[in-house]
Amino acid sequence: MSPWLGKTAFLIGVVAMMIIRAPHGTRSRKIRIAESRKGRLEVALLGLMWIATLILPLTSIATPLVSFADYPLCPAAFVLGIICLAPGLWLFYRSHADLGVNWSISLELRDNHRLITLGVYRRIRHPMYAAIFLQAAAQGLLLPNWLAGPAYMFAFSVMFPLRVRSEETMMLKKFGDEYRAYTARTERLIPNVW
Ligand code: SAH
Repeated sequence: MSPWLGKTAFLIGVVAMMIIRAPHGTRSRKIRIAESRKGRLEVALLGLMWIATLILPLTSIATPLVSFADYPLCPAAFVLGIICLAPGLWLFYRSHADLGVNWSISLELRDNHRLITLGVYRRIRHPMYAAIFLQAAAQGLLLPNWLAGPAYMFAFSVMFPLRVRSEETMMLKKFGDEYRAYTARTERLIPNVW
C-alpha cells in the first residue's frame, strides 16, 4: 500500500496532538511555577523527544535525507497503527482535560497545584504517558522508515523511567500522605497490571 497513507495518518495525529495541547500550554503558562525540577538531564530528554517526534519524522516525510531507511508499508501495520493512534489521542485529550491548569510539559509544580485523582487519573497515575506510549507505537507502525518510525518509542523508553521516578518523588514531597494513599490504590500505566 502507499506509504503516504501511513504518513498522512501520522501527520493527522501530530496536528491533533498539537491542537489538544495548545490551549493547555497557553493557560498554564499564565500560572506561576512554584517549583521546578527541570535540570540539565530533563532538558536533554525533552530535546531528544523533539528530535524523535517531529524533526526526524518530518525529515523522513519531506526530504530524501533518510530515505535509505525506508521500507514498504504493509496494510496490517497501517491498521494496527490506527488502532494505537485513536485511543492514544483520546487518552491524551482526556488526561490534559482532567489535569487542567496543573499540567506542565516538564517537572514543575504550579501555584495552588492540586493533586488530581479523578477521571482518567482514578486508576492510573500516568495516563498521559500511557497515551504517549500508544502514540509512539502508532508512529512506529505508520511511518515506514527504520529511523523515523521507532525514534519516538526509543526516546520515550529512555525518558519514561527517569521522568516517572523524579515526578513521583516531587509529588510525594508536595502532597505527602495524600499522594502515598493515591499511589497505594493506583497503578502507573495499566489498570490492575502496572
Ligand atoms: N504523569 C502524568 C502527568 C504528566 S504532565 C501523566 O502521565 O498523566 C507532568 C506534570 O503533571 C508534572 O510536572 C506534575 O506537576 C503534574 N502531575 C502529575 N501527576 C499529577 C496529578 N495526579 N495531579 C496533579 N498534577 C500532576
